Order: sequence, then C-alpha cells, then structure tokens
Amino acid sequence: MNSHSGMAEGGQDSREPTIMPFSEAVKFHGHVCPGFTLGYCAAKIAIKELRSERDVDEQLVAIVENDACGVDAIQAVTGCTMGKGNLIFRNYGKHVYTFINRATNDAVRISLKDREKDEEPAFRSLRMKVREGKATPEEVTVMRTMMQAQVDKMLVEPAENYFDVKHVTPEVPGQARLFNSVKCSKCGEMVAESRARVENGNFVCIPCFSDYTRGW
Ligand SMILES: [Zn+2]
Ligand SMILES: [Zn+2]
Repeated sequence: MNSHSGMAEGGQDSREPTIMPFSEAVKFHGHVCPGFTLGYCAAKIAIKELRSERDVDEQLVAIVENDACGVDAIQAVTGCTMGKGNLIFRNYGKHVYTFINRATNDAVRISLKDREKDEEPAFRSLRMKVREGKATPEEVTVMRTMMQAQVDKMLVEPAENYFDVKHVTPEVPGQARLFNSVKCSKCGEMVAESRARVENGNFVCIPCFSDYTRGW
C-alpha cells in the first residue's frame, strides 16, 4: 500500500463544503417564498451533515416527501434532480427530506418542526386573503414585506430551529437505470420498456392502456 502525503485516508475531509448562495438558488425557482427558503435550509443541513459537495454524478440521493416549493431548492442546492434520477419523490405531503451519501454510506433525515404556533395570525389571514384574490394592492404589498422579513429571519437563524435532524441508517436505492424504448401500438409514441403495459400481446403506453377491472 502506498501512502500519499496530504491526503486523508478514508475520504475524510475537513474542508467546509461550498453551498450555493441563496440568490443563486432562487434563480431556479423564480420567486422568493418561505417554502423555498425552508428547502434551502434543509439542503444546507444535508450538504454539511453529509460532508458532501453539490452532487455531480449520483453520489448523493434525496428522498423528498412533498412536491412543493422547497423541492426546487433541494434540486438547485444539492444537485439531486428529477432528471438525473437521484431525487426520489414520495407523495406523503410531509416536509421531510432524507439525504444519502453513497460515498460514505451516511444518511440524514430532516423533518420540519411544528411551526404553526410561531406564525403570526395577522400574516396568516393576510396570506389567505391574497390567495383568494380578495386583497387590496396595499395589502399585497404588506404581505410581501412580511414574507420577505420571514425569509430573512430564516436565513440567519440556525436551521435547527426549523428542523429536526438525525442521522439514520441509509436504505440506499439503486442507481438510476436506462431502459430500452418500445413503440406504443395505439398512439405510436415511444415509451420506456419498464413503464409499458401489454394489451392483447402488444405494447401500449400508460395513457393508452385501458385498465381491466371487475371492481375488486
Ligand atoms: Zn415558492
Ligand atoms: Zn400510447
């Protein structure tokens, strides 16, 4: 075994990982909102806790349990993306994010604390009014100002104020696979073999597939 000086064995690295600045991440999402900011904070925790850089080639995996604004921050900051296959979406409606570092076999589960009580009732009713389209332009401005203040607060406070963070044993999902495509015999469009159905012995895509059910 040869040893190289200056390189720690076992991949341990004491450098602070670089994290995409908030302003940079926002460009991906478009607007600034509390949901995105929470996702940004969760992504930051993941990068730090797992001692990882932004993902390049699937060494990092994110399992997200909602499909709201925060998931865009997760994709921008951690590099775990839908297209690369290392963003796994579970439709549970929970602000819970699990990150796995395949290189170190470490995983962290980040779940949002109950923050209902911290929310100002005035802000909540104003937001409701804006959402329903019943707010005056002045009220919209007030709501935007309150929202920005909330975002600024989140960015300076320790992320642990918002999330419970614990290291867990990773359930490492397989690397994303590439599948052959087959032609749907009904619409003629190409569909991944793994997602195709068979009807009367022919390949069909899911939208063309007429589900046979007898009700049980
Ligand atoms: Zn948003
Ligand atoms: Zn089809």
